[in-house]
Amino acid sequence: MDRTKGEVWVFAEQEEGKLSDVPFELLGKARELAGKLGVRVGAVLMGDGVEPLAGKLIAGGADVVHLVEDPALKVFRNKAYRHSLVELVKECSPQIVIFGATHMGRDLAPSVASALQCGLTADCTDLQIGDYTDKKCVCDGGEPKVVKNVLLQIRPAFGGNIIATIVNPYNWPQMATVREGVMKPLEADVSRKGEVVRHDARLEGVKIPTEVLEIVRKASSVNLKGARIIVCGGAGVGSKENFALLHELAAALGGAVGGSRAAVDLGYCEHERQIGQTGVTVRPALMISCGVSGAVQHLAGMQDSAKIIAINTDKDAPIFKVAHYGIVGDLNVVIPKLIKSIKQKGG
Ligand SMILES: Cc1cc2nc3c(=O)[nH]c(=O)nc-3n(C[C@H](O)[C@H](O)[C@H](O)COP(=O)(O)OP(=O)(O)OC[C@H]3O[C@@H](n4cnc5c(N)ncnc54)[C@H](O)[C@@H]3O)c2cc1C
Repeated sequence: MDRTKGEVWVFAEQEEGKLSDVPFELLGKARELAGKLGVRVGAVLMGDGVEPLAGKLIAGGADVVHLVEDPALKVFRNKAYRHSLVELVKECSPQIVIFGATHMGRDLAPSVASALQCGLTADCTDLQIGDYTDKKCVCDGGEPKVVKNVLLQIRPAFGGNIIATIVNPYNWPQMATVREGVMKPLEADVSRKGEVVRHDARLEGVKIPTEVLEIVRKASSVNLKGARIIVCGGAGVGSKENFALLHELAAALGGAVGGSRAAVDLGYCEHERQIGQTGVTVRPALMISCGVSGAVQHLAGMQDSAKIIAINTDKDAPIFKVAHYGIVGDLNVVIPKLIKSIKQKGG
C-alpha cells in the first residue's frame, strides 16, 4: 500500500460509553490535515457496546469510524488497547495517528509507538503538513532529499523557551499526542455521511495481566474549560486569603477562578485551577488576569481568550502584551471597585 494514501486517524477516547471533548477537538485538526493530504479522516473507537457513538464522531468530522468492540475493552487497560490498536494500524496503515494528551492518551500512545517502532511527539500544541529537507541524505543530483507532506509536530521545548517543530519522516505512522483544549472542534453536522467499519479486537490468546476491580471517581468542582468567564490569579495576589477576592469577582460575573503555576505552588489555589503549559488550556470569552506576570508558559494556556483584561502593578509586565485592556494598579484596590460596580449594575 502507498503509505501516503493512508488515513489521518484520531483515537476517539471514551469512558463508560461517553466520548470526551478531546476526540472532537482532534477531529477538527485531522480534517484540516487530511484535506491537505487528500485522504480520509478515520476515528478509532474502541470499547464494548460503543457503536452508538460512531454517529457522533462522523458528525464531528470523521469519514470512517474504525470500530473495535470486545468485552476486554470495556474499561481501559493498556495491554488490551495497545494490542488491538497495534494490530489495527498494521492492517490499515494510517499515515498519522493522533491522541489526546489525556491520562489515557499519555499511557496508550507511547506503548503503541514503541510496539510499532515509530516515533511519537508528546503534548503538541499545533500540527501542520509541510515538506522536510533531509540535509544528511543527498540524492543523485547532489541535492538534499526532500520528504513531501510530513506531519510537522509543534510543541514548546526547553521549558517553553522555544517552539520546536519535530518530524518523523521515515518510521511511520507519524504519531502525536495533543494538549486538551488546544484544537477547536468543528460544529457538529448531523447530515455528514460516513462509514463504520467493524474490526476484530484480535485479543484471543492475549493475556491481560490487570483486572479492574472498582473505579472510584472524585468529581472535580472546577470546570475551567467550560467557563465563559475566568478570573485568574497569580503570585501577585499575595495570599490564599486574598484569593477570596477573586472568587467574589468571579461569582459576581458568573465565572470560574483559575491560577498561575506560581499561585498553585504557593498554595493560593488548587492544582486543578492551573492555567498554562502544564495546566489547562482555556479560551474563555473573558479572562481577567490579576497579579500574573505573563510568562510564556502561562500565556500558552490562555492567550487565545477572546478578551483579556490584565491588572498588574508593573506597567511593563509581559501580560500587557496579550491583554486587550490593561489596568496598571494594585489588585487589592482595583478588584473591590470592579465588584462594587458590577453589583451596582446588577451583575
Ligand atoms: C516547564 C515549565 C512549565 C510551566 N508551566 C506553567 C503553567 O502551566 N502555568 C503557569 O502559570 N506557569 C507555568 N510555569 C511557570 C512560569 O514560568 C512562571 O514562573 C509563572 O507563570 C509565574 O506566575 P505569576 O505570573 O503568578 O508570578 P510572577 O511571575 O511572580 O508575577 C507576579 C506578578 O504580580 C504582579 N503583582 C504583584 N503584586 C501585585 C498587586 N498587588 N496587584 C497587581 N499586581 C501585582 C507583579 O508585578 C508580577 O507581574 C512553568 C514553568 C516551566 C519551566
